[in-house]
Order: sequence, then structure tokens, then C-alpha cells
Amino acid sequence: MKLYFNEKTKAEKDMMRIAELCAKEEKLDPERISISVSFVSKDEIKQLNRDFRNNDKVTDVLSFPQFEKKELKKLNMPEIEIGDVVICMDKVKEQAAEFGHSEERESMYLFTHSVFHLLGYDHMNEADKKVMRAKEEKIMALYSLPKLAKEASKNAYSPYSKYKVGAALLTKCGKIYTGCNIENASYGATICAERTAMVKAISEGCKSFVALAVTDWPCGICRQFMYEFSPDMIVMCKDKEYTLRELLPEGFRLEDK
Ligand SMILES: [Zn+2]
Repeated sequence: MKLYFNEKTKAEKDMMRIAELCAKEEKLDPERISISVSFVSKDEIKQLNRDFRNNDKVTDVLSFPQFEKKELKKLNMPEIEIGDVVICMDKVKEQAAEFGHSEERESMYLFTHSVFHLLGYDHMNEADKKVMRAKEEKIMALYSLPKLAKEASKNAYSPYSKYKVGAALLTKCGKIYTGCNIENASYGATICAERTAMVKAISEGCKSFVALAVTDWPCGICRQFMYEFSPDMIVMCKDKEYTLRELLPEGFRLEDK
């Protein structure tokens, strides 16, 4: 994934992650995709909105896709420039205050929305809007998992190892469960962060997982525990993403035998 910015930004790493998650969601190779990202003032976005969209109003984000959805999968050049994202940060600040969440959350949501436009999605009618919204929600959830895992590590009960681990799990039902490691004076009674999160989810009826983020590498027992429920889930650790099958090749499942 390549992002070309019109100015330096501290959001670069987060936007890169979002763009990669969106590309993967569409089964496109993130390595081949590039996007131009511009941060502009209210006046500039108003002008662009007027000139290109015939709408003489300030807006939060504008997307200029280069291709139609069906074209994207057929392209075979080494680098595909899928289009331009234009964001107005003054508008982001206003909306973040209005919705009562962080500027980071607002800008990442708008960026996700815009990238899906570049990937050929639209919200002209209710059905399309629903599809696009579900995609955005999934990406925002995946994006937030590592941060939630880190947050959850603060609750770790680890007086023996003094080692704090956190995990965050996204289930197929769209819910997020977090967990931390919980140790015990009887050492064998200790449970890892990943299993804490999974046990919480399973006990509430969510047995299928999309992804789990953990602040360290998952141990062998946790890999096997995940494998029982979702062998194809994504595992995020150490700033990288793996499929569970990569972390546990030939895992054990009774129904596979
Ligand atoms: Zn473990």
C-alpha cells in the first residue's frame, strides 16, 4: 500500500493500516494499491465540491475514484492508483465535538468511508448504503482491536510473572470482547488474555471469530483454543497480521479427522 499525502501527517500509520484492511476486505493485494490523500481547508473543499460535485457547500470528505468496482479486480498493472481522498480537518474537528468522540476516530471513519468509495462502493440507495456501512463498521472494528487489546492489558492480574497481556476479539456477530491474563497462586489455574476474551464471547453465544488482537504472541494453547472455533480467523500481534492457519499449521480439530 502506498499513500501519497499533500502534507506531513501523524495519521499516516493509522491511515495506512485502514487502507490495507479495506484492500484485504476486497480481496485485493494491498501491495499493488496506491491512494492520494489531501488535507484541505474549508474553502478548498467547498471549491472542489462545487467544481466536481456541483454542490457549493463545505463538506467533510470527497472521494474521487479512478475505477469501477468490477474493473478493479481485472487490472493487472503492478501499481494501481485507485483514486484521491480529500479531507477537511477543520470539519473533522467540528464533527468529532458534535458526535462526542475523538478527532482520530472521526478522521479514520471518514477515511474508511472514502476508501470504500475508491473501491467502488456507494450509498445512493438504502441497500447499497447498508452494504457499505457494514464494511465500514467491520474495518473500524478491526482497526480498533490492537488499541483495545492494549487497553485491556491494564486489567491484567499478574502478580507472579509481572507480565501484562491484553487481547481484543471481534466475533462474527459483530461484537468485541476483551480479555487480560489472570494468574493464580496455583500456577496451573492461570488463564491467558486471549482465552479470557474467547471464553467471554463463547459464554454469551458468539462462537465464530473474525479476528483477535493480542499485545504479545499467543501461546500454543491459545492458538489451539482459537482453532477449535475459527481456524480461518485473523490474529494480530506484534504490528502484523496472520491467519490462524499460519500460526498453527495442521491444527487439531475432531471434525477434520
Ligand atoms: Zn495463551
